[in-house]
Amino acid sequence: MLQERTIGFIGAGSMAEAILAGLLRQKEVSRKQISIINREDQERLKELTERYRLDETKQRIETVAKSDIVILAVKPKDVPEVLQTWGHLFSEDQMLLSVAAGISTSLLEQHVAGKMAVIRVMPNTSCAVGQSATAICPGSHVSPEQLETARLIFRSIGSVIVVDESLMDAVTGLSGSGPAYVYYLAESLEAAGISAGLSPETSRALTVQTLLGASQMLLKTGKAAEELRREVTSPGGTTMAGLEVLDQYQLDEAIKKAVLRAKARSVEMG
Ligand code: NAD
Repeated sequence: MLQERTIGFIGAGSMAEAILAGLLRQKEVSRKQISIINREDQERLKELTERYRLDETKQRIETVAKSDIVILAVKPKDVPEVLQTWGHLFSEDQMLLSVAAGISTSLLEQHVAGKMAVIRVMPNTSCAVGQSATAICPGSHVSPEQLETARLIFRSIGSVIVVDESLMDAVTGLSGSGPAYVYYLAESLEAAGISAGLSPETSRALTVQTLLGASQMLLKTGKAAEELRREVTSPGGTTMAGLEVLDQYQLDEAIKKAVLRAKARSVEMG
């Protein structure tokens, strides 16, 4: 589906690199299909061009803005300037995919050609290792085929789920901010292991593999988290003793409040 389609990135930051690397790694596109531009930092552009052996002659706004698929990967504060400066170069036979957090499809649509397809994307930082939990939502003029193309692009950096745009703040609160909650849990587990007498190295190794193993169990068995939890909790055993303390401190309530607060912050910033 992506063969022969050109892909242009506006913004050459960490998100653009993660997508670019994912596409090339999955062999979804060849390097000759890709162009990319950056604003101030031309060193960064040179670095990416060399690292991914891109065609130097294509790294110009004229090529990027005429790509079949344009990926907007600048910070949200820079989006208005990009659209005002380059939006008029786009045409209806192209697609715009924006990863800018909090920027609505309706705002993007106001600055592009007529019925150009616009898709808003919310990846997370695990895209750097090809494990993003990405949500995408279509704007007003997106065909099923175009949505499928967007899905294919973001599959190269992890999993993709299509949601209604009204749910994007909830997505931000859960999977957008979610990696930090898991790091917080990892920090706590590591520190707790040290308190229990383990060396820092041992505690870290056991924590990392425990998180990875539990995630893989959720993914591969398809069982509900609650079911897996019940399966490993014997009455009167060690796990039950530990879980009782988490209940006592209302960890579930704390996590719910954290996600809802992050969602509310996303609404405030939007
Ligand atoms: P970044 O700061 O690493 O990269 C942004 C790049 O855009 C910079 O290199 C900057 O020079 C360039 N830029 C700014 N204005 C420009 C312009 N007018 N023309 C061309 N280039 C311009 O940022 P990032 O972490 O890659 O994030 C990019 C977008 O992705 C943001 O909108 C962010 O909300 C979204 N996002 C990022 C993550 C993540 O994990 N990094 C997760 C979810 C969403």
